[in-house]
Amino acid sequence: MSITGRIHSLESFGTVDGPGIRFVVFMQGCPLRCQFCHNPDTWEVHKGTEYQPQQLFDEIVKYKSYMEFSGGGVTFTGGEPLLQTEFLLEVSKLCKKQGLTVAVDTSGYVWNDKVKEQLEYTDLVLLDIKNYDPRVYETVTGVALTPTLKLLDHLKEMKINTWVRYVLVPNLTDNLDSIKRLSAHLDQYPNVSKIELLAFHKMGEYKWKELGLEYKLADTREPDKELLLTVKNIFAANGKKVSVNL
Ligand code: SF4
Repeated sequence: MSITGRIHSLESFGTVDGPGIRFVVFMQGCPLRCQFCHNPDTWEVHKGTEYQPQQLFDEIVKYKSYMEFSGGGVTFTGGEPLLQTEFLLEVSKLCKKQGLTVAVDTSGYVWNDKVKEQLEYTDLVLLDIKNYDPRVYETVTGVALTPTLKLLDHLKEMKINTWVRYVLVPNLTDNLDSIKRLSAHLDQYPNVSKIELLAFHKMGEYKWKELGLEYKLADTREPDKELLLTVKNIFAANGKKVSVNL
């Protein structure tokens, strides 16, 4: 019997979740509760629309020429795509058979044999490291940092191209000492080809209100240019490539 996946939404011409033009699959369900989450409507595992692997692939493959022409591919994000690994694996296998490249955007919190297998069908991992200080990480996300750093080790062992993502939130994730330690830690990972510094913004705030959730960052401002530049320069130490997404 075919495995069913739960999908929050699909975006056929994404440009911010990996290189080129991307078909972006927002998958339902997430074990984290990040204070700055833009998509709290993806948290609940039982919501979303049910898809069969072939059904989702049929949607994806319609855009194959755009993806190929632009050096893009498919990105699975969410939510946490690695919560639905069996489904993800089936769709990824279909994509790879058609020559489409696969990116997975993950917090790195989930690890099991199926995740390991999924990585064999993954060309790029967008690894979100929400903070390098374990206490701050837990405050920001509600879960522990250790699994994320372990996944980073697996990605190095498996030589999987990785972009590390860091959301800069004033007074929450702008602890410069820990950013310096994270930057030094990343120097040990030749598979990390880029660091994406993402400026905090409040585009998802209305969703928190709609869901009746308390949005703790209502009074938090967006990071100013000076702070972004300071953090960018810390990450760029030892020649690492850094991009800033405003
Ligand atoms: S991991 Fe992503 S989807 Fe999950 S709570 Fe954090 S920001 Fe939201």
